[in-house]
Amino acid sequence: MQEIKTIGVLTSGGDAPGMNAAIRAVVRTGIYYGLKVMGIRKGYNGLISGDIVEMNLRSVSDMLHRGGTILHTARSAEFKTEAGMKKAVTMSKVFGIDGIVVIGGDGSFRGARDLSELGIPTVALPGTIDNDIACSEYTIGFDTALNTVKDAIDKIRDTATSHQRCSVIEVMGKNAGYIAVNVGIANGAEAIIIPEKEFNFNNDVLKPIIEGKHRGKKHDIVILAEGVGGAVELAQRIQDETGIESRATILGHIQRGGSPTVMDRVIASQMGAKAVQLLKDNIGNRVIAMKDNKIVNYDIVEALEMTKTVDEEILELAKILSL
Ligand code: ATP
Repeated sequence: MQEIKTIGVLTSGGDAPGMNAAIRAVVRTGIYYGLKVMGIRKGYNGLISGDIVEMNLRSVSDMLHRGGTILHTARSAEFKTEAGMKKAVTMSKVFGIDGIVVIGGDGSFRGARDLSELGIPTVALPGTIDNDIACSEYTIGFDTALNTVKDAIDKIRDTATSHQRCSVIEVMGKNAGYIAVNVGIANGAEAIIIPEKEFNFNNDVLKPIIEGKHRGKKHDIVILAEGVGGAVELAQRIQDETGIESRATILGHIQRGGSPTVMDRVIASQMGAKAVQLLKDNIGNRVIAMKDNKIVNYDIVEALEMTKTVDEEILELAKILSL
C-alpha cells in the first residue's frame, strides 16, 4: 500500500448527533499528524461528483455542539452501481485522496468495504442513532437520541397522567429495538414492543395494562419500536379492548436532531482520532467499534458478519419494574 498523505472524510446514511465531533476529530488529528484532510460532502454522492474541499483547523470550529453533519449526508443509489463505484475511485485519485474515513451505518460500511477492495483504504466509524451495528456496543448518536426520547416521553407522561390515558409511543431504531428497550426502562413503560421479540397482544400489552389498573396505576406508557410499527392501530385496539382512552404519538425525526450529549461527543472524538491513527499507519479496511467500553477495531468484512441482539435480561427487568 502506498503511503497515506491525504485523507478524506464523509458522513453517509442517516445523520446522527455527534457526527460533527467525529469530523472535527478526524480533521484535527489528521492535521496534527501532518496529513492533508479533505471534506467530502453529501456522502458517497459527493465522492462521485467531486464535491470535495480541503479542511483546515478552523473548518471545524464551533460545531461540537451542533447536531446533524456539517458535511451533509446522503443515500447514494449511484454508488451501489459498478459505474458509480468506479467514478468514486477515479474522483478519489483526482483529489489525491489516499484513504477515507466513512462515518455512517452498516450500509455505509458496505460501501467502505467495497472502496477498500478497489484499493482505497477506508476506516469506518459507527454513526447512527439506532445502535444497530453488530460489531459495536455503541454507535455515535445513540445517547443523544435516548435523551431526546426520554425528555419527550416525560412530557407525554404529564398529560397522560392528567387524563389517565394510555400513551402508545413509537420510537425510531430501524429494525432494532435498542432505543425502545432503553427508554422503556428509563421512562418506566408498562410494555415494550420490539422487532427482535415476538409479542402477544393479550399477554404483553393488555395484561400489564389491566393488571396495572387494578394495582392503582393511573396511566400507561407503551413503547413501540418503528421496526414493528402501527402505533395508531395499537392505541385504538387498546382503547377498544380496555375502555381506557388511548393515544398514539410517533416521535419521528425529532429523535435525530439536537446538540450531542457529552457521551456522544467524547466517543465520537475518540473514534475519529483512532480512525486517523490507523490510516496514518497505512492501515485500512477497518471498522472502529466499542467493546467492553474500550475503542477497538475490526476488519470490515469480519465486522459485517457479526451479530448482536437485545439483552433478554433487560427486557425481563423492564417487566418487573413496571409492576
Ligand atoms: P443508517 O443506519 O442511518 O440508515 P446506513 O449507512 O446504514 O445508515 P444506508 O442508506 O443503508 O444507511 O447506506 C448509506 C449508503 O451506503 C447508501 O446510500 C449507499 O450509497 C451505500 N451502501 C449501502 N449499501 C451498500 C452496499 N451493499 N454496497 C455498497 N454501498 C452501499
